[in-house]
Amino acid sequence: MDELTDVQLEELRQSLLSLREELQLALSKSSEDSKPIDLDLPIGRVSRIDAIQQQKMAQANKRSQEVRLRQIQSALKRIEAEDYGECKQCEDPIGFARLKARPESLLCLECQTKLEQR
Ligand SMILES: [Zn+2]
Repeated sequence: MDELTDVQLEELRQSLLSLREELQLALSKSSEDSKPIDLDLPIGRVSRIDAIQQQKMAQANKRSQEVRLRQIQSALKRIEAEDYGECKQCEDPIGFARLKARPESLLCLECQTKLEQR
């Protein structure tokens, strides 16, 4: 796998920046959705269960967005430190195609696959 060119790196940096913006926006919205439900509200039992389930989903969704946001922020730091695009496991270049699909990747496809099979 080839090392990234400056142009590719810049493209990935831009997509990390816009992903970060999207996630920050989504998170600021979802903090309103995951407000505690007012259990005194006269909405009936079924819709209350519904509301609780929706809230649980919103919270799970929010957690995964927070995790991804952290990964994206650390990827941006790695770009600044010129430590980006290298597999944390085998130190091979991760490859542009994979980074384009998921710019916050820490591992090359091979190491990621091994990790998931464990
Ligand atoms: Zn690797």
